[in-house]
Amino acid sequence: MVTNSQLFERAARVIPGGVNSPVRAFRAVGGTPRFIARGHGAYIYDAEGKRYVDYIGSWGPMILGHGHPAVLEAVQKAAVEGFSFGAPTEREIELAEQILKLVPSMDQVRLVSSGTEATMSAIRLARGATGRAKFIKFEGCYHGHTDALLVKAGSGLATFGHPTSAGVTPGAAADTVVLEYNNVEQLEAAFAQYGNELACVIVEPIAGNMNFVRASVPFMTAMRELCTRHGALLVLDEVMTGFRVALGSAQSHYATLIPGFAPDISVFGKVIGGGMPLAAFGARREVMQHLAPLGGVYQAGTLSGNPVATACGLATLKEIQKPGFFESLTAKTQQLVAGLKAVAAENGVPFSADSEGGMFGFFLLPELPQNYTTVMTTDKERFNRFFHAMLDAGIYLAPALYEAGFVSAAHSATDIETTLSAARTALR
Ligand code: PLP
Repeated sequence: MVTNSQLFERAARVIPGGVNSPVRAFRAVGGTPRFIARGHGAYIYDAEGKRYVDYIGSWGPMILGHGHPAVLEAVQKAAVEGFSFGAPTEREIELAEQILKLVPSMDQVRLVSSGTEATMSAIRLARGATGRAKFIKFEGCYHGHTDALLVKAGSGLATFGHPTSAGVTPGAAADTVVLEYNNVEQLEAAFAQYGNELACVIVEPIAGNMNFVRASVPFMTAMRELCTRHGALLVLDEVMTGFRVALGSAQSHYATLIPGFAPDISVFGKVIGGGMPLAAFGARREVMQHLAPLGGVYQAGTLSGNPVATACGLATLKEIQKPGFFESLTAKTQQLVAGLKAVAAENGVPFSADSEGGMFGFFLLPELPQNYTTVMTTDKERFNRFFHAMLDAGIYLAPALYEAGFVSAAHSATDIETTLSAARTALR
């Protein structure tokens, strides 16, 4: 039998760091990444045949678990019909119609292949539609690896960002204004300073890339009002939260808290592809009319709206619309979070946790953090020990303290119990 270590060594010879996306390398937590051989329902199995309860779910897409029969059937049927045509297909219309039915803030969507592409195109669209260059993003929010979005806050108030990756030129980051998440004062100051130069504000409504930090209601309200007042567009990056925290996505949740709330542009990924490369961005018709071939904002893709990916996405969206789906997923996730809190309390471990729909986060901190700086005060060594103890016990959590977790419809009450009992031992 080949071991994970052998595969990692072999991978490192031909793939930089042995992985095709950095967090998979376990650098933050140390140790050897597990090479996954297959998944079934709530479980994944590594190359050594060890089974794990999967709380990553491919970083969000696998809301039904692995190998859901209806999704498998749809994908197999589509694959037989053809992998890719580079011409329009009826399935793209069906998927667009489904997404628009569930997210009424948009009249039209454009399908792409990754969240990175979708956010990049959303920013270009906002710039093209407003004729402005600058935009605001928040520290700790991840929107994919486009140059202008790979930017960290400079020091001080409303500073322009510094590139956080080699290869990103200062020029590419020069129009990115980076602010602290949930900081209304900074937001107001930035609009006072740059209001008429701002094309948009891009934000994760629940920031899953700093584990799980909700945009507070005053913060979301301020973003909406300031954008409207200054003619900037509010871009909600729902790549992670879309069809994951609620059927209507995070924006439906905020619409219940803030009367009339709606973003100008929405970005989706992950769940809408059900595990296949698929993402989307959408807006009202007036905004979308700026896109090529109708308008001057260019955007394209050889594999955009791929027939197999759209079949997978459609089958996934069909399942999550079944009566009671989100109620059951939410209850299960809440059971996990409440259980983890109780187990931590039993052991006197500082702990806080939160969830919405099938997305959750936990912190080895006494209170839920509100921004990136506080998230990063977590005791990393303690987190890493907890992570490895859980992994050894067959519970696969995100290998970094700043990543959210995901529960799927396939997780059973027994899986949650197994997880809590492993956590009880690990936290001890
Ligand atoms: N936006 C958010 C909120 C994300 O979480 C991610 C990826 O995790 C992206 C954008 C980028 O998506 P992708 O990895 O599909 O390029």
